[in-house]
Amino acid sequence: MDASHAEQDLVNVLFTEAQITARLQEMADEIAADYEGKDLLLVGILRGAVMVMADLSRALPRHVEMDWIAISSYGSGTKSSGVVRLIKDLDTDISNRHVLVVDEIIDTGLTLSWLVNSLGSRNAASVEIATLLRKPDALTMPVEPKYVGWDIPNEFVVGYGLDYREKYRNLRDIATLSPHVYS
Ligand code: 5GP
Ligand code: MG
Repeated sequence: MDASHAEQDLVNVLFTEAQITARLQEMADEIAADYEGKDLLLVGILRGAVMVMADLSRALPRHVEMDWIAISSYGSGTKSSGVVRLIKDLDTDISNRHVLVVDEIIDTGLTLSWLVNSLGSRNAASVEIATLLRKPDALTMPVEPKYVGWDIPNEFVVGYGLDYREKYRNLRDIATLSPHVYS
């Protein structure tokens, strides 16, 4: 759906579908150059990174493998619960593989710092992070993504895979959610 289909719930469209597509192509070009001559395994974090994974992987002018992991650090609200839970592990043995973790947003960094630690103990050749969005003001853990689409203010956003209580993931754009929806 488009922002017009959820107009009442949204305050401001931060990034349109076209802007997201263009930015992901730039990131893909950079990734392709950096990993030239190396195998590449993209690891998507369910469920939020589904859209980023689908579009970033197709923007890459090369072969990649994809696997998925499911972890949760959020309850169903808009604030992190502070607890990371592994829901689904990788099916792939990542030893000696170049792993690029694909995520849609880094907020506190709790989820990714936990995940990078966990993957780091599995003898991967390298582990890097690509995220479409990052909230620098919310960061409390030392997470250093190699590829960042945009830095955004510390506001709750939805769309393009990002949900509020499992809704808005299928919004094409990324927008700030009106407080009336969650208060
Ligand atoms: P962390 O605080 O661990 O960096 O963020 C973990 C997860 O919280 C993200 O992957 C995402 O699923 C969710 N999250 C963080 N900020 C937002 C936001 O602004 N909107 C939505 N919908 N989810 C968010
Ligand atoms: Mg996520």
